[in-house]
Amino acid sequence: MDIRDHIRSIPDFPKPGINFYDISTLLAEPDAWQVTMGRMAKVVGPYAPDVLVGVESRGFLVAAPLALKLGCGFVMARKSGKLPGATERYEYQLEYGSDVVEIQKDMIAPGQRVVVLDDLMATGGTAAAVCELAHRMGGEVVAVACIIELTFLNGRDRLDVPFHTVVQYA
Ligand code: AMP
Repeated sequence: MDIRDHIRSIPDFPKPGINFYDISTLLAEPDAWQVTMGRMAKVVGPYAPDVLVGVESRGFLVAAPLALKLGCGFVMARKSGKLPGATERYEYQLEYGSDVVEIQKDMIAPGQRVVVLDDLMATGGTAAAVCELAHRMGGEVVAVACIIELTFLNGRDRLDVPFHTVVQYA
């Protein structure tokens, strides 16, 4: 099955010049979603993760079912101010300004094997920031995986761990 047949691309969203790859159509098609999760499990499983960190918000949709499938924990990485209780924060630079990612303090134990998951990698800034946060919390980040990679943006160069995707757009 070609997963691309189930991903919709929407031009000029959220702003002119951006081609938005929408996985809503993939999520709505159970056979295609099952195949996608199966392929993700094949690349992520061999890392024997203790914890999958999903990046807000579509990364949750990838990481939560995969964690169930692989029998490991699921942890949320969220934007600033969304998570209750004590959190670890990491502020990272964007082209203009900065952004913050947070994980609840007790969600990654030192030495745990962590795989970071999202729906799509563009510039790689988000994934790199979440990796850095998980590392600062004592986790051993062993890989990053996304469903989609925009290969022409070379986001994978910003990571210092193995990176996997099941669909690429050049
Ligand atoms: P980046 O940090 O540039 O790699 O951006 C990745 C994050 O932004 C992911 O959480 C994606 O869901 C979202 N994103 C960036 N570009 C797109 C795009 N063209 N289509 C869909 N989502 C995108």
